[in-house]
Amino acid sequence: MHVKYLPMRWKCGDNYCYILSDDKSNKSWIIDPAFPNDIEDYLTNENKTDITAIVNTHHHNDHSGGNKFLNSKLFNNLPVIAGKDSPCVSYTPSDGEVIQLGNNVEITAIHTPCHTQDSICYYAVDKETGQKCVFTGDTLFTSGCGRFFEGNGKEMMDSLFKLMKLPDDTIVYPGHEYTAGNVKFSSSVLGKDNKALNDLDKFCKSHEFTTGEFTISDEKKFNPFMRLNDPEVLKSTGLEDPVQVMDKLRIMKNQF
Ligand SMILES: [Zn+2]
Repeated sequence: MHVKYLPMRWKCGDNYCYILSDDKSNKSWIIDPAFPNDIEDYLTNENKTDITAIVNTHHHNDHSGGNKFLNSKLFNNLPVIAGKDSPCVSYTPSDGEVIQLGNNVEITAIHTPCHTQDSICYYAVDKETGQKCVFTGDTLFTSGCGRFFEGNGKEMMDSLFKLMKLPDDTIVYPGHEYTAGNVKFSSSVLGKDNKALNDLDKFCKSHEFTTGEFTISDEKKFNPFMRLNDPEVLKSTGLEDPVQVMDKLRIMKNQF
């Protein structure tokens, strides 16, 4: 399988659209195509007829805002796979449901309510090559997580636990390029001796785009929201109960 990331709103924002393709059949999903003007050239020049579904990680406009335009102007009524609150949604997969893409790619829907109640992460495996990746929307960012707009710390903890159970070599594709800012906060919480975080800091300083460069294994090392038992996190939050730690981390990040 192959993943193409398309930065959107890059001058004034930081959104990613993704095209996930099965190499054998060349069939693809387009994930979170919120700003059609920014991706239309690519889609027009890259054989858009191979796209078989529009997919959203959650209903926020900067992820789902392109559904209607794409389906009326560029595509012909493709299925819209998303949570219940996305515009034009035609199918909402249940938690754990597996959907086939082309010949070799199997995609599992993972419900991760908290940032929004309709947040879904999509875990893709190529059965032939063994490649694995997950599209995490605004639930998991590189060394961070989304704000709790429609949920609480318990829900984010449970959602991130689901992602932590994925194979360690699963590549992470988040919904935004927030890594540089996240690293500053993570360093303030995890201290100066976290080697994985220090390496991430160096990587950020020489790369504008960090999506697709890190795995679930990396996140477990440098993401404080996945390290609720880390002594440095307990020290920084002054708490021990993991749910309370999660809530406190989010408040600290919001105020950072
Ligand atoms: Zn969002």
